[in-house]
Amino acid sequence: MENCVFCKIINKELPSYTVYEDENVIALLDINPKVKGHTLVIPKGHEANFSHLTADQARHLFLTTQKVLKALLSTESLAQGANILINQDQIAGQTEMHVHAHIIPRTHKNNFGLNFNHSSSLSLSHEQFQNIAKEISENLK
Ligand SMILES: [Zn+2]
Repeated sequence: MENCVFCKIINKELPSYTVYEDENVIALLDINPKVKGHTLVIPKGHEANFSHLTADQARHLFLTTQKVLKALLSTESLAQGANILINQDQIAGQTEMHVHAHIIPRTHKNNFGLNFNHSSSLSLSHEQFQNIAKEISENLK
């Protein structure tokens, strides 16, 4: 798609630090890395959001993400763990409107700010949990 940075990278109109590529997916270093080794995995067909991918596209995206993750984890200085993240739409922080998965390596030395500590969790009642679960499950097809 015109004016899409990722499509331009896929079409080799812009340079990238590519770590993996096949006919459907490309994985490259994020040019604005949050930590060392921050990698993006990008389906080659232009789709704005993860929710728009076909099952095959989503499967290939996740399998490639796992493959790159394993490579990162095999270099202990780069990754002792990782966060896998897909931002769905601008409200969730998606800045490039071409779906991509982030692999954010975690080490004891880097301090990426994503916080899953229980102290920052919401306090919901049993009824609230039930209502949210019901709403989601009713929309599954
Ligand atoms: Zn694109």
